Amino acid sequence: MFQFGEFYPCSILPEAFDGKPLLVAITGRKLLSSEKSEHFLFEPEQLPVCEGLSRHLLGVYNQRPCYAVDVGEAANIPHGTEWRELRSLLGLVDELHFNLAGRAIQIIQWDREHLYCGCCGRPTTVNEDDRSRACHHCDQVLYPRISPCVIVVVTKGDHCLLASNVAWEGRFYSALAGFIEPGETAESALHREVMEEVGIEVENLRYFGSQPWPFPGQLMIGFHATYKAGDIQVDNNEIMAADWWRYDGLPPCPETSTLSGQLIQSFVDSCREEGR
Ligand SMILES: [Zn+2]
Repeated sequence: MFQFGEFYPCSILPEAFDGKPLLVAITGRKLLSSEKSEHFLFEPEQLPVCEGLSRHLLGVYNQRPCYAVDVGEAANIPHGTEWRELRSLLGLVDELHFNLAGRAIQIIQWDREHLYCGCCGRPTTVNEDDRSRACHHCDQVLYPRISPCVIVVVTKGDHCLLASNVAWEGRFYSALAGFIEPGETAESALHREVMEEVGIEVENLRYFGSQPWPFPGQLMIGFHATYKAGDIQVDNNEIMAADWWRYDGLPPCPETSTLSGQLIQSFVDSCREEGR
């Protein structure tokens, strides 16, 4: 018997877990939630609106199969429930449930956007043996798309480099981040992004961790790096301001529910441990 944790993500259901399902109902990029809490996993009898609609397996949750259902424009939701933006769950539910909600929304959105082949325009069909849709006319297989991004906190002694995006106008500072381009490694993308955004060279890249960031479909890959050379020169395109901040005098930063916040907090903790 498998011993899964509270949630085991999969696209094919292991036979042992073919029991009563749990459902996550999606409309657009919102999910159905209880009005009084952030609860979004429902029993099938609680959601007659989902009856007869196709389901997408998310995985096994507490020994039960868990599915996402696209209810389209359905208005007849149960009393005591409401449609919620995914972002409103950030920091209110734990990482497991936030990632599960993001998984549900992204899989439904991928399915909805790939009903037709992008090459020949013909209808696609669902593959039963993995999570994909296929165009049999031009032999294309379409998988959910994830866009990897690097995110880095650059450090220099007891200071770290944080930047303010043009949209934040200096009110809020965060780690540097950018999309990985085709043909790049995470490391080369990190060197390029830091050079492009603030004009400095870094070294000693240390992998920290990763976080799905479903707005709409990124995977953030987090690093610490140390300063090597150069003076800060902001690009004025993405970044409006950047500076070195001492660990005990940081500007307003992201919450630790985000990878950026975790990278910054980890730097602060290591400085404190070293008694700087
Ligand atoms: Zn095609």
